[in-house]
Amino acid sequence: MKPNSIKLKCSTCGTEYSVDQIEYTCPLCGPLLGTLDVIYNYTEIGRKLTKDFLRKNPVFSLWRYLPILPVSQPTMIPDLHVGWTPVYRAVKLEEKWGVRNIRIKNDGVNPTASFKDRASAVAIVKAKEQNVAIVTAASTGNAASSWAAFAAISGLKNIIFVPKDAPRAKVAQLLIYGAEVLLVNGTYDDAFDLCCAAAEKWGWYNRSTAVNPYLAEGKKTAAFEICEQLEWEVPDYVFVPVGDGCIIQSVWKGFCEFYQLGLITRLPKLIGVQAEGSAPLVAAWENGASAVKPVIPKTVADSIAVGVPRDQLKALRAVRESGGMYIRVSDRDILSAIPLLARTTGVFAEPAAAAGLAGLRQLIDSGICKPHDTSLVLVTGNGLKDVDNALRAVENHPIEVENTLSGVAEKLSIISNK
Ligand SMILES: *Cc1c(COP(=O)(O)O)cnc(C)c1O
Ligand SMILES: [Zn+2]
Repeated sequence: MKPNSIKLKCSTCGTEYSVDQIEYTCPLCGPLLGTLDVIYNYTEIGRKLTKDFLRKNPVFSLWRYLPILPVSQPTMIPDLHVGWTPVYRAVKLEEKWGVRNIRIKNDGVNPTASFKDRASAVAIVKAKEQNVAIVTAASTGNAASSWAAFAAISGLKNIIFVPKDAPRAKVAQLLIYGAEVLLVNGTYDDAFDLCCAAAEKWGWYNRSTAVNPYLAEGKKTAAFEICEQLEWEVPDYVFVPVGDGCIIQSVWKGFCEFYQLGLITRLPKLIGVQAEGSAPLVAAWENGASAVKPVIPKTVADSIAVGVPRDQLKALRAVRESGGMYIRVSDRDILSAIPLLARTTGVFAEPAAAAGLAGLRQLIDSGICKPHDTSLVLVTGNGLKDVDNALRAVENHPIEVENTLSGVAEKLSIISNK
């Protein structure tokens, strides 16, 4: 099969590279500024990727967009279902908040229970194309647990760098999938730098965010799905929790590509939501800066606890181009969004994944989102990923009871009050 013809383009200096010329970032601009975009021959793709092609497409995973993914040998595609995650109308929330149209896209149902599977599915194909034996990643937890699953089924050895306080469930996933887990004595940002240095020194294939240009290709498929699942009615706002900024810039790339292909006729405003204690992109946004001042992150939302956002350039650009904004939400608002989302839609989110809903709430309260606006909230990870913080988010407690009906009657106010 003919390879999808792609090139890599530096997001700062614009230099174009062929795919066998370069692997990670632009050597002229360095790792933080020299992140690369995968670019396609859109005229060629437009002939194949039409609404009719999609309507007849029997594949309901992210691979339904194969003509616009950087994979030339479909036999290398891993057999683990990723993507085409459900979109729900949040009717109870609409009633509660007096607005008309809220959608929730639940990426917590992916195989390792987070959005990161979209990136891993594509990156593992690129690793296999390179014939490598060892792969690596730095992660706050989800990218690693996702990568560990894909490495395992592909028979690749996987070395993972996570901060030592990563939630237990995520570390458990890593061990179950058989990864070599290095708990770095430091923050995620420290783990990231160490992983990149090790990958370079020992020649491992590196799935760390932003420096690997193929991750965005998997992540952009969420935008494609939104377009199709909402029957080509693009929402006014899309809310995305932001740490490194890779998800938000990828989702923007997806919308822009469908726009360029003529499949949609308008673009959404992207709202990047950060945790108050880890909001360097919000600060850069407010100051109109193009570079970010690093912070020491402190938040319950471990997946967005990032002091040096590695995809900062594209993440700032995406929100600017979309006409959206960056906002910060408190840990308290993040935690209270977890039971609210669960009790109104049935979707259980980890703290970072609930930040988008906290952001929507804030923009409705401040009047920026009007009652008639349509909003989609991206839920990026499953609540079972971080049970300790879930328990902190609720006021109700389990009640110990004698194993008798009178014991039940005694403890349940709903009965004893009568
Ligand atoms: C990784 C992650 C994010 C943030 O994605 P970035 O690309 O780092 O901005 C948000 N939520 C969850 C659950 C994640 O795992
Ligand atoms: Zn460059």
